[in-house]
Amino acid sequence: MTEKYYFNNEKSPFAKITENEIEPFQNAYEGEEYSTMDALKKAFPDYPTTNVFKSLPYRLTNEKCPNCGGNVYHKFRRQSSKREEHKICVDCQHTFLYDCDCEQCRKKRIADFKEKWDIYLNAYYPTYISFENLSYYNEIHIIKIIDLYYNPYSNCLLFPQPRNRYSFYQNQSQFSDYVWEILVSLVNRKIIKPAVGGEYGYNNYPPYTETLNLSDYQWTLNLSHKGQDFSIKDFIDLAKNRKFTSEVQLEIFKDIYRSEVRNYTNFYSEKFLKFEIDEFIVDLITECFFDHYSLSKVFSNIYYALNASLRFQASYKASPKKVMGHFRNKIVEYSHNLRDPKSIKDFNRLPDENMGEMNDYSAKYIGLPYNWFYLDAKMLFPELVILDELVENTTDISLL
Ligand SMILES: [Zn+2]
Ligand SMILES: [Zn+2]
Repeated sequence: MTEKYYFNNEKSPFAKITENEIEPFQNAYEGEEYSTMDALKKAFPDYPTTNVFKSLPYRLTNEKCPNCGGNVYHKFRRQSSKREEHKICVDCQHTFLYDCDCEQCRKKRIADFKEKWDIYLNAYYPTYISFENLSYYNEIHIIKIIDLYYNPYSNCLLFPQPRNRYSFYQNQSQFSDYVWEILVSLVNRKIIKPAVGGEYGYNNYPPYTETLNLSDYQWTLNLSHKGQDFSIKDFIDLAKNRKFTSEVQLEIFKDIYRSEVRNYTNFYSEKFLKFEIDEFIVDLITECFFDHYSLSKVFSNIYYALNASLRFQASYKASPKKVMGHFRNKIVEYSHNLRDPKSIKDFNRLPDENMGEMNDYSAKYIGLPYNWFYLDAKMLFPELVILDELVENTTDISLL
């Protein structure tokens, strides 16, 4: 037999009394005679008159559930003169609300999320990025990011929630500069993408634009290796057993060197010349001095070149373009008159330790000694330089 009432709250005091006793109370609560509540309170002193809505049962209607055909029950919530209907299907717990959590609604919602995400991911991430195309330096950056943000339970990257809601680029305040720079590059190059599917996916709709808020999604790698999907776990396994040859270590050291040159040059050019140095000058400095000077010595050269350009800027009120040209010429001049490293003072790294953190990590990862900053390529990789000299000598002999 179909019950007339349905209690979603088993502890309700009304569950203990008969239908005939509930009826007048419910009618009074829902009906026009709400003011007679006081009278009812007297008639039913044991029953709650606070939280009536929660305690009252749902009442059977003639309606059938659109999801499963089960019986639908309803009750009203009173808010002064307004009455708001609440419905529920007793068989499948469908509540008729947009955020209903019954199985059917959940399935529908997941299908809907999945469809929208498929469209989004196909549009913005149509292909994998090939692992083979990553530089070794990038590879180490990704390992660092995994170190910092990997969540083993969801097998995804999980970034901290910002204190307020804002766009991707305002997420910056959550991260140190060096981590932020890496994250921007990973997102822009589509090396990481939102993770959807499985137990942890489908909590959010995809964004309307390509700009994502990092903490709104879990993230996964968008990489392939030898044509196969390359997961975060695969990456971690690979990183554990990674061995680099000296040639590759030298290549990575050059990337570290360039990054340090860039940090240092821009720190002082922005501070004193009031503009950022072109990337091509950063490359020029690296190419001119990498084979000859440690970073501590190249910093000295950069410092004196910037100093000369600052004087040039002040004396001639020169435009940034002219000052940049002056700085470039100074660097070339120094590289044509290479001084004995012994006569060059060793400079220190920048006071802002954040800037060098990634490079410290990379240097340690490839096994450079702790004082790598004060050593040049020849000291760090003596075996390779010997090879170079042998090749040069051979060439010389053949020319004779
Ligand atoms: Zn139902
Ligand atoms: Zn439902």
